[in-house]
Amino acid sequence: MIPITKPDLGPDEQEAVCRVVGSGWLTQGAEVAAFEQEFAACTGAARACAVSNCTTALHLALLAHGIGPGDEVITVSHSFIATANAIRHCGAEPVFVDILPDTFNMDPAALAAAIDPHTKAVLCVHQMGMPCDLTAIAAIAEHHDLPLIEDAACAIGSEIRLDGRWQAIGGRAGATACFSFHPRKVVTTGDGGMVTTSSQTHDQLLRLLRQHGMSISDKARHESPQVLTEAYPIVGYNYRLTDLQAAIGRAQLRRLPDLVARRRALAAGYALRLADLPGVVAPVEPEWARSNWQSYCIRLPAAADQRQVMQSMLDQGIATRRGIMCIHREPPYRAGEHRHLIHSEQAQDGCILLPLYPALTESEQDQVVAALRRALHSPARSRRLEEPVEAAA
Ligand SMILES: *Cc1c(COP(=O)(O)O)cnc(C)c1O
Repeated sequence: MIPITKPDLGPDEQEAVCRVVGSGWLTQGAEVAAFEQEFAACTGAARACAVSNCTTALHLALLAHGIGPGDEVITVSHSFIATANAIRHCGAEPVFVDILPDTFNMDPAALAAAIDPHTKAVLCVHQMGMPCDLTAIAAIAEHHDLPLIEDAACAIGSEIRLDGRWQAIGGRAGATACFSFHPRKVVTTGDGGMVTTSSQTHDQLLRLLRQHGMSISDKARHESPQVLTEAYPIVGYNYRLTDLQAAIGRAQLRRLPDLVARRRALAAGYALRLADLPGVVAPVEPEWARSNWQSYCIRLPAAADQRQVMQSMLDQGIATRRGIMCIHREPPYRAGEHRHLIHSEQAQDGCILLPLYPALTESEQDQVVAALRRALHSPARSRRLEEPVEAAA
């Protein structure tokens, strides 16, 4: 069985966990602080604040930019549901715009057309690790004096060329970017998240919000020779990352260049193998973007039945996933008119994700593409559907 993904964990991560267990300090402490510094250095961001996951990262980033009840935030429907949930967690309402079919990312023209006096922020997504068009999107946000927050859940190690210079996602001047360390992403801590920002004010607010609004951390009080008492000036949350998770993250981060290089080689390998499959469209990078290939999303031939192709591949031992979900099709977000989200719906219904993870071998890639070829040419009834008949006979 070839799974859709497999986290790349080894002796370094095991050693990291043992080190923290031995230290006697398990939650947000020295390991989290070190992870934040190393993460800021690796993205080129001025500051990085670790939190419990990317959903809480997005929630706090929106709060730090003053988003609250009654506000509208423009984002994409073609994303994991957490993107919109984080907006709702602030009491605000997401307004969905469509994607461009080639990059699966926010259409800047659709963004420009959707801005109105209720708009209070833009939440763009670097979907599947592919950078969205930040040059255009940031210019539109700036023109309307709107904060821009980047959902970079999938995009650690992805790069974009801005003003003629390649930079990591999260490192753009003025950026607020939110990352995820869920096992489906390129770097994992089990669960975990990070907010990078160039604003010291926002960074301080994020640090208060993630730890109950506490003015002096438990760590600082523990280490002080003087008796210190803390205050709680604002209502905060418990959105901490633990030192156990941070230690795993530090080990993962050291391997990031290798992990991304391997993923890029595998993506190139798929592109070669898929070239002679008629009607299959492989994903491509715009010339200003370098993806970390967190996911590899192909468009099926128009006549193919997505579900049947996925079932046939599963029958052949290959896990796939449907295209990225459309948030506006889920019950909490169905209200309103969504006819304009045609490219988002087509991406969900007409695309599949292929297995891609560092341990995937080239011969396994051959198997994946051979299984896809058979799935596209097999008759509509899959083997799985015929099995009960055989069992009854
Ligand atoms: C995974 C993901 C999230 C949520 O990340 P968690 O760390 O699981 O909370 C948010 N947005 C996008 C685009 C994602 O892919």
